[in-house]
Amino acid sequence: MNMTSTQRTSEQRPSVAVIGAGAAGMLFAGACAELSRGRLRLTVYEKNRQPGRKLAITGKGRCNLTNACPPEEFFRHVPGNPRFLYSAVNAFPPSETMALFERLGVPLEVQRGRRVFPKSERAYDVVDALRAYAERGAEVRYSSPVSAVGRTEDGGFFVESGGGRERFDALVLACGGLSYPLTGSTGDGFRFARALGHTVTPLSPSLVPVEARDRALCASMMGLTLKNVVLTVRPDGGGKPLFSELGEMLFTHFGVSGPLVLSASAAMRGRDVSSLTAEIDLKPALDEKTLDARLLSDLAAQQNRDLRNVLAGLLPAKMTEPFARTAGLDPKKKANAVTRGERARLLACLKRFPLPLARLRPIEEATVTAGGVPVKELDPRTMESRLLPGLYIIGEMIDCDACTGGYNLQIAFSTAQAAARAVAASPGAPDAALLLKGKKGEKKTMKPHILIAIDGPSGAGKSSLAKLVAKKLDLLYIDTGALYRSVGYFMLRRGVDPSDAAAVTALLPELDIRLSAGKDAMRVTVCGEDVGDRIRTPEVSAAASKVSAIPAVRAFLLETQKETARKSSVIMDGRDIGTVILPEAKTKIFLTASPEARAKRRWLQLKEQGVETTVEELIEQQKERDRRDREREVAPAVPAPDAVVLDNSDLTLEETAEEVLKLVRQNESLA
Ligand code: C5P
Repeated sequence: MNMTSTQRTSEQRPSVAVIGAGAAGMLFAGACAELSRGRLRLTVYEKNRQPGRKLAITGKGRCNLTNACPPEEFFRHVPGNPRFLYSAVNAFPPSETMALFERLGVPLEVQRGRRVFPKSERAYDVVDALRAYAERGAEVRYSSPVSAVGRTEDGGFFVESGGGRERFDALVLACGGLSYPLTGSTGDGFRFARALGHTVTPLSPSLVPVEARDRALCASMMGLTLKNVVLTVRPDGGGKPLFSELGEMLFTHFGVSGPLVLSASAAMRGRDVSSLTAEIDLKPALDEKTLDARLLSDLAAQQNRDLRNVLAGLLPAKMTEPFARTAGLDPKKKANAVTRGERARLLACLKRFPLPLARLRPIEEATVTAGGVPVKELDPRTMESRLLPGLYIIGEMIDCDACTGGYNLQIAFSTAQAAARAVAASPGAPDAALLLKGKKGEKKTMKPHILIAIDGPSGAGKSSLAKLVAKKLDLLYIDTGALYRSVGYFMLRRGVDPSDAAAVTALLPELDIRLSAGKDAMRVTVCGEDVGDRIRTPEVSAAASKVSAIPAVRAFLLETQKETARKSSVIMDGRDIGTVILPEAKTKIFLTASPEARAKRRWLQLKEQGVETTVEELIEQQKERDRRDREREVAPAVPAPDAVVLDNSDLTLEETAEEVLKLVRQNESLA
């Protein structure tokens, strides 16, 4: 929002317009009013005489308002862009929706399939509660269709309705999608979004089975279900995957279906499916080396048997023959006649069983249709437009779609809540001042946009410190080492030598790294794969160290890091945060500890994990890594000239954090 933090009288309160009093718009208004404690002026425009027309008819008039499943499970029922929703749904999961409605005086009941309904089974109870919630803190103007929206010269927004034009600091579009046009969802919102520079993806079938080019191959395995396989879809001949997930799928007479395929179909939307190939990793738990060893020993142990029989130890019986043929081998070939080259082909097929695709099944077979404002144009944590700050888009207008069962309404509520939180706390809003507890517990206010840079050698405890400080100050913690690790991990997976600068650089365009806020730590997704702890192995550490010395890699990650810091208050740790990434940060720490102290801590950690080493060995490793980080040509890990060097060899984590908080208070000009 374009607001200043100077005192304003009540008439000058920052103003927010919401278009649409549906599920998302009403929840937004109620929550934003509550969170900003009335310090924003909220106006809701609704074209109908009543709010929540569509809500009132959902669930056949009973209103299935959410699904009482844990957040992890939630996403399995969201075929359309689930990743975009991680942050919003984790922050405001179904349990919160239920708590809110109970608080608003609507007793709930969980029915079959964990569908949640009002006990009264009257959708109007839900509508009335939301209406009261919205009207408590916002002015809701009924029978007020909006004819146009746009920007004002001073960076705000105008809303035109009933011949008048009014200015607002922020604008929230909550106009619904295209379903049930009679209720008022006629697509106006998309017109407004377009007018403000957004694109809108066309309606298309989502959640639909897929036909394969080789129908006969699939037909030969018809009815076979594969569980715990990873399905990856990418352009023919390789390239960046559109989809890659673990799950269950099945073969049909025309191709493939099942939950994994239905989800994958959502990712193929708008693409020429006949130029895509699905690859099935039939053994996702085994890496190629282990799997090759297994193949070798299986073949050796059953030398005189047919290949298909040997494969039966690895694959479902129905698959062995089609599998051997796909690998270009005669299923009846004797195991002892399989050459090394042929074994390599078997291995490749186990990890990437190829299935060139033909087309999606027709729209009549689709369970859900999809379309809306593309998720890449919105910030998943706030629903703020990435194109136009101050503009928020929530609810059904977003190109996300879920199965039936209360999931779609939950998406409306979670996205509305995310935007409400962001608007109530956006920089400059009077209430956005962040509260920081002083030593004696007195509350102090400080300017909201805080940047803290923590650099230092590996093993100094940067991430534990950053996490703790992030928690205390309610900042976002960004572990930049994880970004470099992810690049290293990706290169290893693609079989590229991480020290081969040319090869690494050439592969960068295919790399898609995304960050999202996890429960305690940041989550990193690499080309759709949540990498979790897989980037914490010694191999990946070594690869990260190599790729981090390649200038193109640093340039590649630079913008992601800077952008996160532009958007929110962050504490970032790494090697070049104070010098290159956030030179403007007011608080810069170079956290260090003696190699001995660091090695000792690491030794204790490893011991806990059951890894046997000596402290001496670790000291040597530590010194070697320090030297490499310090002496490399690009971005050497050295303290910024204005950094405070903090040696925590003899400090506890709490004490170290207290030092940092002290510095933050000073630097942000707090008494
Ligand atoms: O801190 P962590 O051990 O996770 O870092 C992994 C690798 O990435 C290290 O080799 C480190 O030198 C490199 N790195 C970097 N710049 C950063 C963060 C990490 O070069 N900002």
